[in-house]
Amino acid sequence: MRLLVVEDEPRLADYLHKGLSENGYVVDVARDGIQGRLLACEGQYDLVLLDLMLPGIDGFGVLAAMRERGRTPVLMLTARDKVEDRVRGLQDGADDYLVKPFAFSELLARVGALLRRGGSGTAALTTQLRLADLELDLASRKAQRAGTRLDLTAKEFTLLTLLLRRRGQVLSRTTLAEQVWDMNFDSDTNVVEVAVRRLRAKLDDPFANKLLHTVRGMGYALEDRGAS
Ligand code: CA
Repeated sequence: MRLLVVEDEPRLADYLHKGLSENGYVVDVARDGIQGRLLACEGQYDLVLLDLMLPGIDGFGVLAAMRERGRTPVLMLTARDKVEDRVRGLQDGADDYLVKPFAFSELLARVGALLRRGGSGTAALTTQLRLADLELDLASRKAQRAGTRLDLTAKEFTLLTLLLRRRGQVLSRTTLAEQVWDMNFDSDTNVVEVAVRRLRAKLDDPFANKLLHTVRGMGYALEDRGAS
């Protein structure tokens, strides 16, 4: 899950970057409206957190440019606790808003809700992903197999979510490195192998039916092939 934070206040931008990263999201930050508009329109993001008062182009300008191109969910952040700003933002196509100062837990909850809803409006409202006896609850970020809780780190949960959303597809180490760790192609993808090994130990080792498969020379796939 890639998020873009468009926020010019450095401390808040750093705080959001750190907090969201710790919760397993890959986060880019734009410090003004011009960079924000460029990244929001050119980048592939699952969600944009958009401050309204920005240097260069304000948040409404960024939002207008985004809405000419697509339906990436937008969560407005505004210091101005004014009804007209929120109404205008929502009318212009923002999906939700938070008035500063906000509790980080509330931000996380709203981010999670928007991601579950999906930008296209066609995604199911479900917070559950399932495969065989594996269940992920995206709201509480809990995973279990056959009713037993899996004790996953934030990155492991994100990795498993990505694999489960794209079940049956082979995801390369490079794709996983980009999507989960925000590393580019040149990075050492050994970190992916280590994380997959740790995830597999928790996900598959105690169970007869293995779900996480290595496809030699290509990557990994999550798939129910039945117990062997
Ligand atoms: Ca601002």
